[in-house]
Amino acid sequence: GGSASASSIKQVKLERESELRIEVGNETPLKLRLLNGSAEIFGSELAPETWLTFPPRVKIAVFTWYGATIEMDDATETDYTADETPMVSYVNVHAVLEGRRNRAKASSPNDSEESQGPRVIVVGPTDSGKSTLSRMLLSWAAKQGWKPTFVDLDIGQGSITVPGCIAATPIELPIDPVEGIPLEMPLVYFYGHTTPSNNVDLYKTLVNELAQMLETQFARNAESRAAGMVINTMGWIEGTGYELLLHAIDTFKANVVLVLGQEKLFSMLKAVAKSKPNVDVVKLQKSGGVVSRNAKFRQKARGHRIREYFYGLGNDLSPHSNIANFSDLLVYRIGGGPQAPRSALPIGADPVSNPLRVTPVNVDRDLLHMVLAVSYAKEPDQILSSNVAGFIYITDIDIQRKKITYLAPSAGELPSKYLIMGTLTWLET
Ligand code: ADP
Repeated sequence: GGSASASSIKQVKLERESELRIEVGNETPLKLRLLNGSAEIFGSELAPETWLTFPPRVKIAVFTWYGATIEMDDATETDYTADETPMVSYVNVHAVLEGRRNRAKASSPNDSEESQGPRVIVVGPTDSGKSTLSRMLLSWAAKQGWKPTFVDLDIGQGSITVPGCIAATPIELPIDPVEGIPLEMPLVYFYGHTTPSNNVDLYKTLVNELAQMLETQFARNAESRAAGMVINTMGWIEGTGYELLLHAIDTFKANVVLVLGQEKLFSMLKAVAKSKPNVDVVKLQKSGGVVSRNAKFRQKARGHRIREYFYGLGNDLSPHSNIANFSDLLVYRIGGGPQAPRSALPIGADPVSNPLRVTPVNVDRDLLHMVLAVSYAKEPDQILSSNVAGFIYITDIDIQRKKITYLAPSAGELPSKYLIMGTLTWLET
């Protein structure tokens, strides 16, 4: 809403099939609107003459199929127009997926094979535009009235919820160019780390859990089964990262693999798919607009993402600070942790830690600034297989009085007393 002061406004005229690429500055939000014609941001159409406010640091492209005039203020770090984009190839993929959705919808719901819509997985190195392509495919599908499921396996950034999680959510409307993916009731599993190498077994276990849960939901919901899913993955494509991609393709029974910007990965996956006749591997060009983000930027983005979870994008949420006794909260960790000394183990036992063992954590100063997940588990032995309700952030530990202060999205009791700790921390600024 609102208007921007006229002095700093500039107009950009876009020819058909071109885009305006923008990096919003570090401090000031950017105001932008579509003056005439038609345009979209990552697959979501802009309403005419409506000012949108983009938060600092976001990188967007305003694309037009038929031409448009855009107005914006001067809060950009960079902005330029590009007429070479891979958008036509992307929308062609969308058209093929539409065909498969229609076929799935038309077939008998009792035929579980035929009534299954496309299961698309988007793979490629970091900063190849995976999240962006996923978003476009979802928004284009939602615009046609489908409710595809978005699955985000990227624990590094997290477009559905905080980093360190894998999650899924149905997309019922084109994704809002400013707000992103709505946070209503996503299905979330907490991994607790921002790199999969911390605990590969746990990562795979959670991927299995999530896939199984979606399979159950799809079995009872012909509409979402026909719409299918779009799965976004991590940029880790070498070694174990590659193994994890293959694991995800198998586990989610993906039948369309979109490979962005990497010949080697494409040919490797193509070779693997030879033995899987119903898996199509498609190579797509990376957009020249994709912005590389260095490790520091990513780290910062993670912090912003956590802040957004508690405070909202425009500080529109009011998280609640709560105080609990140490004994009220039961904190668990999965795998890792100190290994038992050999002398403490039965003879012949190996002192390797079980990556899937769930162990209670003593509440002490180590919990300060941790982001913990609130599990839906009813018993500790369900923690590994349970999804999570949300997150809390530990702001103070008082050892003397045995009190713990934490930030939660709302006041009142937590949905469960079982909390999961990983290595996810945040320094509120
Ligand atoms: P990946 O998921 O492969 O790491 P992203 O899709 O997140 O990559 O893209 C990296 C960054 O580039 C994001 O900030 C995204 O908004 C931005 N971006 C993607 N495509 C474009 C484009 N055509 N123009 C401008 N920015 C873009």
